[in-house]
This record gives sequence, structure tokens and C-alpha cells, in this order.
Amino acid sequence: MLCFTLRLKPRKTGIAQWGEAPCALLKLRITGGKEESEFMSDIQGTVFNIQRYSIDDGPGIRTTVFVKGCPLRCPWCSNPESQNPRPELLYRYTSCTHCGTCVGTCPENAVAMDEAGELAIDREKCTVCGACVLVCPSKALNITGEVKTVDEVIKTVLRDEFYYEDGGGVTCSGGEILAQPEFATEIFRRCRERGIHTNADTSGYGSSEAFKEILQYSDLCYFDVKLLDPERHDEIIGVPLGRILDNMAVLAESGVKTVLRYPVVPGLNDDDANIDAIAGTVKKLGKQDDWLVNMLPYHRYGENKYASVGMVYPIPDVRDNTPENLDRVAARLENAGIRVEVSKLG
Ligand code: SF4
Ligand code: SF4
Repeated sequence: MLCFTLRLKPRKTGIAQWGEAPCALLKLRITGGKEESEFMSDIQGTVFNIQRYSIDDGPGIRTTVFVKGCPLRCPWCSNPESQNPRPELLYRYTSCTHCGTCVGTCPENAVAMDEAGELAIDREKCTVCGACVLVCPSKALNITGEVKTVDEVIKTVLRDEFYYEDGGGVTCSGGEILAQPEFATEIFRRCRERGIHTNADTSGYGSSEAFKEILQYSDLCYFDVKLLDPERHDEIIGVPLGRILDNMAVLAESGVKTVLRYPVVPGLNDDDANIDAIAGTVKKLGKQDDWLVNMLPYHRYGENKYASVGMVYPIPDVRDNTPENLDRVAARLENAGIRVEVSKLG
């Protein structure tokens, strides 16, 4: 392999020390006689996980990039560590032996043993320096969230390029990708350059202009549909519905292959009025023949994670789905002419 790199004038500041272009280093590469170009990007994003060999986030074997930070507060969220846009300290109570080693090492006095011998973390004081993580002998402490450049993400993605050839690819999920749109767009642009299939997994809450940019490089979009009553949306999810509906229209207009992801949460969004509103919206957009509604049965697998980031599980009393309830919801959508698929787990 012959590889030429055109190195531009160094920047005085910034993470990337090269590149006069706003965010890119032009790289020319000749591989076996074939020339290709790529831009090395210094765009950064905060990521809480890059999951390789994923089979649940789109077709085939995929790498899923989970960005950290979400403006929504869905009470059924199974990844509470994805909500805060910044890195944060994670404390696994079940791994802690209460040895107290971490207490003396915190420069901010953010960790203490209370009178009951339990570890108390003052998250207001914590600067996420990681000193306590280094000394914990039980690995009960960890930092979740890491700032990464697009180049770093792409490097991980390309380790599994071989697997994508059979229909797999890359999914950007969250958190919310529209909260870090430049990062997601650049990851997808780079994937598109390599012919790697891309799936944008989004709640739809964000700027329509930014969404259009991401869709330009998306082969598939997983778009959430949760609650279509504006007042209940505000009350339960914590953000206005209007922007999401606007972006659903943007998606319909784009022609990008779409799967609507419907988390079915008993007592919160499985009522007939919400089901009919979902069907009505898909039909109004003229997409009942090609959009699939993927029902995701509510589960409480994420419940224990809430305490690890200092949060309280918001819906402890919500009951699990029954097969009968899922059949009822699916039948109502299908009777309205909507294509439906029910996932094993939501
Ligand atoms: S991460 Fe740093 S500031 Fe936060 S509790 Fe641990 S030692 Fe203290
Ligand atoms: S050092 Fe680790 S095991 Fe010991 S009290 Fe702190 S968190 Fe628990």
C-alpha cells in the first residue's frame, strides 16, 4: 500500500494540530493502484459506548456508536447513563465491598462513608477526575462517557469492515444523535465514503436542518414514535412534540428507508387513542405501505443502572407487557393498514 498524506499548516490551538480547513485534513491514498480520498476530521463527540458485533441495531452485524446526552426524559429509558451530555462517575453498588479506599483519594471530598457504612457520592462536587476509579480494588467505580474524534470512531468502525460486507454496517444511536449532529453526520459521511451501510437511530428531537444533513448520508433511519398527544408528550417526556412531528415529515420527504420504533409501555402509551394517532400519522404522511412500525415491549432491565448514576427509577409501578396486550396493540395497528413487527425485547 502506498499512502500519501498531505499535511497542511498546523493550527495554533485545538485538539487536532493540523488542517487549515475548518475540520478536515485531506489525505490522499493509493491502495493497490486505486486512488481514494478521505478527510480526517477533528470533529469531536461524547460517546458512552461503541458496541461491536451488534445484531439489534439494524440489518446484519453492526458497530453501534452510542452518543452521550439526550434532551428527552422518557421514564422508561433503559440507558440512564446516556442522558447527561457529560462524562460522569458510575458506581456499582453490588461490586462495592465498602472498603473505604476511595474516600481519602478524592481531591474534592465528593466521596464519604455515611453513618450506615454506605458510600455517599456528592455529584455536585465531583469533577469526574477519575482518581477514585484508579484506587478502587473492586472495580465498583468507573467513568462513563468519553470525548472522541470522528477519526477515533472510524478507526474502531473499520476494524470490523469485513463483517459489514454481508449487509451489516454502522448505527449511530444514543443518547440523541441530533444533540451532536455534526459528529453523527461526519461519521456517516466517512462511512458512506467507504460504502458502509448507515442507520440513524433518533428520537427526532432536534434541528430539522441538522436532521436533513444526517439523512443525506443515511441508508436507514430508526425513528422513535412514543406519544402523539402533545400535552402528554410534554408532561411525560419533557419536550414538545411539534419538532418531532416536523422531523417525521422531513424523514418522509427524504425517502430514506424507515422503521418507526414504538416502545409499548403499559398504562403510558398503549391506549387506543395513541395507537390510532400513530397509525393516522403514518397514513397522513402517505407512508403506510413502506414504513414499518417496530413495537418494542417495555422492560425494566435498565432499572438498576439508575442508582449507579445517582438517579431514581421513575416508573417502579409500571407493569410488564402481557402477550395479549402486545397482540391487541399490533392488531389495532394492522387493522389500520400499518405494517407491524414485534421485537422480543424493547
Ligand atoms: S471522580 Fe474524582 S472528583 Fe469524582 S468522586 Fe472520584 S475522585 Fe472525587
Ligand atoms: S474503593 Fe471501591 S470497593 Fe472500596 S468503598 Fe470505594 S467504591 Fe467501594
